Amino acid sequence: MDDGTSEDVPVLIVGGSLVGLSAALFLRCHGIDVLAVERHAGTAIRARAGHFHLRTVEILRSAGLEDAVRRKSEEQYPPDGGINNVESLAGREIANYFPNLNAGVDEFSPTIRLFINQDALEPILRARAEKLGARLRYGAECMSVEQDADGVTAVIRDLSSGAQSSVRAKYVVAADGNRSPVREQFGIVMRGHGLLSHSITIYFRALADLGPLLKDRNQGVHYVTNPLMRGFFRLDRSGNAGFLVVNLVGDTSRPEVIAAFPSAPWANVAEGITEQRALELLRAAIGVPEIPVVIENIATWRAEANCADRFRDGRVFLAGDAAHVVPPNGGYGGNTGVQDAHNLAWKLALTLAGVAGPGLLDSYDAERRPVGELTVEQAFTRYVMRVAPYLGTENTQPIVDDFSMEIGYRYNSPAVVLEPGSQPLHEHPRESKGRPGARAAHVFVHRDGTRLSTLDLFGRNFVLLAGPEGHGWRAAALAAAHDLGVTVDAYLVGGADLADADGSFFEAFGISPSGAVVVRPDGFVGWRAVTAAAAPEKVLRQVIQALLCRGDGKP
Ligand SMILES: Cc1cc2nc3c(=O)[nH]c(=O)nc-3n(C[C@H](O)[C@H](O)[C@H](O)COP(=O)(O)OP(=O)(O)OC[C@H]3O[C@@H](n4cnc5c(N)ncnc54)[C@H](O)[C@@H]3O)c2cc1C
Repeated sequence: MDDGTSEDVPVLIVGGSLVGLSAALFLRCHGIDVLAVERHAGTAIRARAGHFHLRTVEILRSAGLEDAVRRKSEEQYPPDGGINNVESLAGREIANYFPNLNAGVDEFSPTIRLFINQDALEPILRARAEKLGARLRYGAECMSVEQDADGVTAVIRDLSSGAQSSVRAKYVVAADGNRSPVREQFGIVMRGHGLLSHSITIYFRALADLGPLLKDRNQGVHYVTNPLMRGFFRLDRSGNAGFLVVNLVGDTSRPEVIAAFPSAPWANVAEGITEQRALELLRAAIGVPEIPVVIENIATWRAEANCADRFRDGRVFLAGDAAHVVPPNGGYGGNTGVQDAHNLAWKLALTLAGVAGPGLLDSYDAERRPVGELTVEQAFTRYVMRVAPYLGTENTQPIVDDFSMEIGYRYNSPAVVLEPGSQPLHEHPRESKGRPGARAAHVFVHRDGTRLSTLDLFGRNFVLLAGPEGHGWRAAALAAAHDLGVTVDAYLVGGADLADADGSFFEAFGISPSGAVVVRPDGFVGWRAVTAAAAPEKVLRQVIQALLCRGDGKP
């Protein structure tokens, strides 16, 4: 029963797990008041996501969390882990997908890829979000969301007292997971490859040292391919604990094993799973019949590859698994969700500040849905290649390399001043070179004798980076920002403000010493001028108007 109380908040977040917490954190970084409601009593209690991509760690770095996350990661996992495929831990190595997770990353990023368990990451996100003033309410379920012309009214139930109250918000972020009640309520449909398997995760601890089996190959993630099962281990730094995912049972390489899908027993290990059966599977995956192990928990879940057909309904935005669900192969689910939240946060903030046009919020769907769809396809391709070759390659996209997936996806939307020519959805970061729509490149610069990455300049405001002859650009940017009510941080690189530490800035951003780029608050290039322009004030005013989707201010 509604107890009659009502509270107002600019943004209500439904779901307080990985993506809800990320949204709360990023919105607070932009100074927006938020309330997140989560039906569980606290943050995640089990590891699911563990592999965090470069872009996610870059974003966490910009939210001040890189050190905390890297420290926790090193406690939990070998820092130079990787991903391989074995017959069993004791058996032969079949493939090695990533010998070292971080091979080659320093060319592109000031940070690294890492493994950290979701149940260890979420408290770090939570602490930071709360420190910045986010209100996070656990044991609270969102029962309904209704919207009108001015806002959204949500009914929230306190699960310990049963009391119901209402929350009035301008916008809702639905980070309520793959079954997203909010998505259902608004009739948003999921499309894609559908259900792939009823999978299980066996959380375990070995009572014997698995080290001798692993030899020198404790990499973090080990796919397992043998006639009994297909799945993967994620082993912690000790090599003796972690989890085993089992997606398929039986020898799916034999056509006669493949029967009616998806109810076939080989794709439904979850149904009726017992501890005894889990123990058999675990021992088969370890490859030592009587090895003493303790099973701590068994979780059942559906491996799916689907994307929502729209990410927005009026004032309601889907983020994370609510918007796209992928099999864990490639570690895309949580990463993509964190990046959704990051894309949305600055747009909500500038809209709430009254300085953006309505198109800026439209650009969330225009930018993130193509990335969601690409991610679903690429995760599906990796699932087929690593776990379910029996599905065949007919319905799979060719693999897109990991750098292009992680830091090479591009936004082709009205919130970018695109340059003429083709606009690929993804590009290798070595190719994009400051093209509008791409993630702005990392190069090292020096400020007052301190070495920092260009990425450290982004996150809060628009940023103008101009060459040493770009005084006109800088003055114009500051004037336009003042007129339009936004903040632009403006720097001359290779001039007085920032030294081009390694001499790579101009190539990385594709401009000459008289040119300039404007980087959006999410670290994506919004506009670029390769050389000087005749009337920089006019140009930059139109650019910033365009990036804010205000009117038709095309330069
Ligand atoms: C075995 C496994 C391994 C994985 N490995 C990786 C990996 O390595 N890397 C990676 O990036 N991803 C990985 N993932 C995927 C990742 O775990 C998910 O993508 C991620 O948890 C999605 O986060 P989310 O916040 O969107 O959704 P969820 O984590 O599902 O959280 C949604 C939250 O919303 C809450 N909620 C729902 N409805 C309501 C309501 N009405 N009111 C209040 N609260 C509500 C739920 O209680 C839940 O806590 C893996 C998944 C699995 C299963």
